Amino acid sequence: MAIEIEYTQNLIPFSRLELIKLVNSALTKDRFEHVLRVEQTALKLADKYRVNLEKASIAALVHDYAKQRPDQDFINTIHEYHLSDELLNYGNAIWHGVVGWILIKNELHVNDIEILNAVKYHTVGNRYMTMLEQIIFMADYIEPGRDFPGVADAREITNESLTQGVKYQIKHTLSYLVDNNKPVYPKTLETYNSWVPNI
Ligand code: GDP
Ligand code: FE
Ligand code: FE
Repeated sequence: MAIEIEYTQNLIPFSRLELIKLVNSALTKDRFEHVLRVEQTALKLADKYRVNLEKASIAALVHDYAKQRPDQDFINTIHEYHLSDELLNYGNAIWHGVVGWILIKNELHVNDIEILNAVKYHTVGNRYMTMLEQIIFMADYIEPGRDFPGVADAREITNESLTQGVKYQIKHTLSYLVDNNKPVYPKTLETYNSWVPNI
């Protein structure tokens, strides 16, 4: 059964259903359905780990809002906001979170910094991550539509410990990137170095 919470904290100038409509119109059907599953997964984790449900819902619903935007929108935003030129060496996989949060702030009127940071770091993680950031990072990875070797382990570990879930994901993502000759964004490596090695 889907959990449908009502927004009462004035975090955004929309109801949950209005936000869902805005997100729906920005995404393909498949991507939109992923977003709804991430929201449900995030709400379950937020309930379990005692994190603000409304923030978890909003962050999950908007996390991939910028995923289908043309590259030029991100390039313009990188220049306009004087973000690091280093970002220009990457693409949509990195931009939709690391830059996309600015589009979400401007276009969806999300101003809560905890929600915006959860979006910003949802792909690459961060050295320190709040519980909300960890929940969005993990919900995106383990939502029921995900199917990759190890996803069952990832779900089990995350239900035991959010921290162990983050470690599992960043380790497997880095290893996937290396195995497939993909460029590693520095923040991804920083997240790995901060969470995984026992020094
Ligand atoms: P999605 O937006 O729901 O598909 O999920 P994510 O936002 O978590 O990830 C998007 C993609 O970015 C995934 O395929 C990750 O493997 C990939 N990714 C994560 N970190 C890096 C990185 O440092 N470099 C590159 N090239 N890709 C990355
Ligand atoms: Fe994403
Ligand atoms: Fe996602």
